[in-house]
Amino acid sequence: MLLTILTTHAPATDLGYLLHKNPARPSRFDLPVGQGHVFYPEATPERCTVALLVEVDSVVLSRGRAGASGLPLEPYVNDRPYAASSFLSSAMREGFGTAMTGRSKERPELAAQTLPFEVHLPALPSRGDVSLAERMFRPLGYQVTAGTTLLDESFPEWGQSPYLDLKLEGTVRLQDLLAHLYVLIPVLDDTQHYYVDEAEIDKLLRYGAGWLDAHPERDLITRRFLKHRRALQRAAQAHFTDDDGPGSERPATPTLNEQRLEALKAALVASGAVTVLDLGCGEGNLLAKLLPERQFTRLLGLDVSPRVLARARDNLRLNELPESYRNRLTLTQGSLTYRDTRLQGFEAAALVEVIEHLDEGRLWTLERVVFGDARPSTVVVKTPTEEFNARWASLPAGDTRHADHRFEWTRAQFQPWAERVADEFGYAVTFQDVGEVDAHLGPPTQMAVFRLEAL
Ligand code: SAH
Repeated sequence: MLLTILTTHAPATDLGYLLHKNPARPSRFDLPVGQGHVFYPEATPERCTVALLVEVDSVVLSRGRAGASGLPLEPYVNDRPYAASSFLSSAMREGFGTAMTGRSKERPELAAQTLPFEVHLPALPSRGDVSLAERMFRPLGYQVTAGTTLLDESFPEWGQSPYLDLKLEGTVRLQDLLAHLYVLIPVLDDTQHYYVDEAEIDKLLRYGAGWLDAHPERDLITRRFLKHRRALQRAAQAHFTDDDGPGSERPATPTLNEQRLEALKAALVASGAVTVLDLGCGEGNLLAKLLPERQFTRLLGLDVSPRVLARARDNLRLNELPESYRNRLTLTQGSLTYRDTRLQGFEAAALVEVIEHLDEGRLWTLERVVFGDARPSTVVVKTPTEEFNARWASLPAGDTRHADHRFEWTRAQFQPWAERVADEFGYAVTFQDVGEVDAHLGPPTQMAVFRLEAL
């Protein structure tokens, strides 16, 4: 995939100083998905064009993907090598990192100035919607020329290509131009090539500083940049000026799900464990939180359902993560009601909203497998509180929140269970409420932290 930026500012070769990249010397750098190249197809005092080329390595894309999508050739046959996407934005940070901060050692005054630029993105996925590119870039002062071409001239019946050929012209600071592209390329692409987390909010706010808040498409940009993850959008929106006028910013209230994951992560980080089991990992929500924490060197997610595990693989975008991340995580199928030697040798284990999925009469099998056999030093168990169900008016008394819950316990039921287990297997246990505590009903969920007692 390719991005070119031309300036006609005189002398145009000053572009090299602004980008900290010598026009006479092509450069090459490694990216998580392949390689990036920066070079100058033309460099005269009148016109200077820089090109950023990203070569996507299909073998890198294919790693860790075996069996995930059921389409074995998918990593090799796709548009990712050609179509501008978030990979291009990441490459901008590698290739043009200093320029994106607005610094220039040799030409600081030019970096602060607006200059004439022309940008060309020859293949930008946008589902053929020309108007969207205009709605994104025109409010930022660019003249937008976007067109689509036939998918294949020999086969006009195949119709238009879903990719835009986009040209932008504008007189802006280079730092702003790069920030606009950095944010808006993945927004126009809008496919999920990678997993997003809180770090992405920081990037959006950093590169959106000074223009995003007032942009007429602010909400659409935020939603797409954060890959439609609602909790992240809410957290980002708390930083924007409200429609009721400046000064009425509201702090974000994290969702119950976010609070519960944060509480879990905090407990695991505090345990000092570096190897962690996520037992009944489901779609991988907790693993996604743990993966960026360098403390954790080995993570194993286990679930009984292959369907759910396939979704976890998709959500975690394992194949697109750098190798250093991928190597730390294993997802595997298994049942917590059977002894499993793969669970041994880990320092901590999480059972998040899992125990209530087993028949109460079979819970002893899980106790034996986790506490008796795997025996991690720390075990965190979380489960909904039964009392809190009264909050949901639509839930008939006695019904559980989830059709697949075999039971839901009050705190008065959960705590004696946990104390009995701790006693039986040589652990000490403490309890925490998770989520906003209701004055009458208590917390929506409860958590027990077990620690293996020294012999
Ligand atoms: N921990 C995840 C998922 C909770 S849902 C989260 O908090 O998001 C409960 C999960 O437990 C489901 O994914 C279900 O497939 C899994 N599960 C149920 N019984 C299991 C068993 N016997 N062994 C392993 N996993 C089980």
